[in-house]
Amino acid sequence: MRVLVTGGAGYIGSVIAARLSAQGHEVAVYDDLSRGHAAAVPAGATLVRGDICDEETLAAALRGVGARAIVHMAALAEVAESVSHPERYAEVNVAGTAAVLRAARATGVDRLVFSSTAAVYGDPGHVPIVEDDPLAPTNPYGETKLTAERLLRGVASHVATVALRYFNACGADAGLGEDHDPETHLVPLALRAAADGTPFRIFGNDYPTADGTCVRDYVHVADLADAHILALERLPDLPPALNLGTGTGDSVLAVLDTVEQVTGRALRRVAAPRRPGDPPLLVAANDQARRTLGWSPRRSLSDAVRDAWEWMRTHPRGYAEDPAR
Ligand code: UDP
Repeated sequence: MRVLVTGGAGYIGSVIAARLSAQGHEVAVYDDLSRGHAAAVPAGATLVRGDICDEETLAAALRGVGARAIVHMAALAEVAESVSHPERYAEVNVAGTAAVLRAARATGVDRLVFSSTAAVYGDPGHVPIVEDDPLAPTNPYGETKLTAERLLRGVASHVATVALRYFNACGADAGLGEDHDPETHLVPLALRAAADGTPFRIFGNDYPTADGTCVRDYVHVADLADAHILALERLPDLPPALNLGTGTGDSVLAVLDTVEQVTGRALRRVAAPRRPGDPPLLVAANDQARRTLGWSPRRSLSDAVRDAWEWMRTHPRGYAEDPAR
């Protein structure tokens, strides 16, 4: 396949680009490097630097690689930022997706895999979450991803699409890891606290869960990437949206225990107030992805924490040496 990966210099996109490239597919990465890292673009892929709303440059990039397929990952993905700057999210996540869809039609692309999120469900009130559950996002991030999912339907007669709704991505793969600025995610922050000996803040310990902390479905980034490649191969014979999660929930305390086991270091755990907008429980039903993609997550939470720890130890400054930053 010849594939354009938008946002392919980001955390999940770079792993998808690397795994596609390793399987012999021809890959171009389209990224403005505002959040991604040039150093994360795999050696086998070409990088086209451009704005996701720039339809002309997108079309040129698609023609350049001869792409018939797109993995559309380019997005803003920080819940708190989406609340303080909703207009950025409308621009990048909604208008950017519209530009990608127009460029796809203009250049004869026939399939597109879209990066979506469990945030489209909001606070579901029960688990596991199935794809038919109500879509009720509770922040502009989830709202803009849901709007983008709906835009995909507008091109259905020309381009086959599927929205993959990720639960909590973590881990590292192919020498590529998680390097956000600022970092807000549990696994990298807990590993950093383990490395530095700094306190780790647990956001809420009085939730209605077994140990009082929030439960999430942590899925290894390499498993997520594999699902995208399977989706590219299986389109158009897929439902409009699929959950990507392991089907297993782990609490914040369970993740911290795993971090301590993997690193061999004790965390300095401190209780902190709840983070606004965190639902107590988010766990995927992944039966549809298993059935329609032939996908099953193969890596455990321990695997993800171990791989992320290894990446952190080999990249103590993340991608900071990247000359493009
Ligand atoms: N969390 C925490 N301390 C931190 C970062 C995260 O207790 O420093 C908790 C957070 O409140 C949530 C879970 O870890 O319950 C996962 O958070 P993350 O931001 O990684 O992913 P989210 O589920 O919000 O997408």
